Amino acid sequence: MMIASNFKTNYTRAKADSFIKSIQACMTRTKSEQEVRIFAPFTALNSFDEVKNLKVGAQNFYPVQNGSFTGEIGFEQLEEFGIETVLIGHSERRHILKESHAFIAQKYDFAKARDAEIIYCVGEPAEVRMQGIDAVMSYLWEQFEGIDIHYEKLIIAYEPVWAIGTGLSARLEDIEEVLERLREKLSKPLLYGGSVKVENIESILHVKECDGVLVGTASWNEEAFCEMIRIA
Ligand code: PGA
Repeated sequence: MMIASNFKTNYTRAKADSFIKSIQACMTRTKSEQEVRIFAPFTALNSFDEVKNLKVGAQNFYPVQNGSFTGEIGFEQLEEFGIETVLIGHSERRHILKESHAFIAQKYDFAKARDAEIIYCVGEPAEVRMQGIDAVMSYLWEQFEGIDIHYEKLIIAYEPVWAIGTGLSARLEDIEEVLERLREKLSKPLLYGGSVKVENIESILHVKECDGVLVGTASWNEEAFCEMIRIA
């Protein structure tokens, strides 16, 4: 089971250090089949170096090795921190930061050419969900256009936009239905994300075809983070 934590713009280096102190013990106990990722803020990318059984990933990058893109982060700069895993297509980047699908596909191809593990996020907004499962699925499949679904290091995260950061997780039967439909065409690990927390992680991980979770808010608390890993 994979547990991936997305820190977003939370956590200064100082806060990351105290988080790390609290999770050291539980990370040492992690079982080999548990794959833990933390998508840390850029400023704390190397803070996690000493933590066992954990891979640190980048929440974002600009699809160039290096170059003249003021304010962006290039891949070479990430590789210097040993980063081998990236998030692409997160709904906050699609909707708030206005990344177009063409740009997302460009990022995907770039990360693939760099041989990085990619957690590729897809998810529908509330108005699409209200139209039913067929509308949801065609919305999701559009997000796979131009994306090489056979890439060896691809992991998919299904994250309904309306469930992210709202405390309102999708219903288990809805998660199951979407993951089963995705599974018809995708042979890669499937994660669920959107208000995963200590109270619901166990039942979500039991959903058929669910290979793990991508967690934001709940994972920013050390105790909850460790408890979720224990449950997984
Ligand atoms: P959430 O965030 O757990 O706070 O809903 C999930 C995510 O943004 O990946």
